[in-house]
Amino acid sequence: MRCCVPLCRSTRENVSTSQRKENITFYGFPSEVHLRAAWLKALGKQDSNLSNSAVVCSQHFLDDEMYETESGFRQVYAGAVPSTVQVCMICLDSDRKLLLMSKHKLEEAYEKLTGYPLFDLGKLKQTVCVLCAQRLRNFRRFRAKSLRARTLMMDLVKKQDSAEQSSPGQLVPNKSPGIKPRV
Ligand SMILES: [Zn+2]
Ligand SMILES: [Zn+2]
Repeated sequence: MRCCVPLCRSTRENVSTSQRKENITFYGFPSEVHLRAAWLKALGKQDSNLSNSAVVCSQHFLDDEMYETESGFRQVYAGAVPSTVQVCMICLDSDRKLLLMSKHKLEEAYEKLTGYPLFDLGKLKQTVCVLCAQRLRNFRRFRAKSLRARTLMMDLVKKQDSAEQSSPGQLVPNKSPGIKPRV
């Protein structure tokens, strides 16, 4: 059994003999028409050239797209589509563990950070690495904090303004002779 993704070297044999930390598992193509078409497109394959026993290994799925069954088998969520390239949308790293933005509700933070809406990446998924995901969460908190402070300070200024109006002259520049600026 060999993963059918181009350049992927996962086979049942080398997986069971190698010292990989992570267990690699294999999945057959779905039979549901649309999902099957999505898999084929994502992997650049044609149904006519595909053998019945073609499988895709777990390296082409994100952890977010997999779950463990009660019997301890790793399974791919229905609707998940494999991808040949997986990369962080922010730092472009491809080695770190990647998270799906939608699953971790990071889209809004990303849009606020960049000032642009998330865009369709075609074959690539909207993913960020664990580090950038943390940065985005921090950014979200930092932004919320700044906004809270802003509201608070604006309120304060408003109160100060109205206080000034009731007792005029309080914050007027001091006209008494002080230190003269050097010319
Ligand atoms: Zn593979
Ligand atoms: Zn990153």
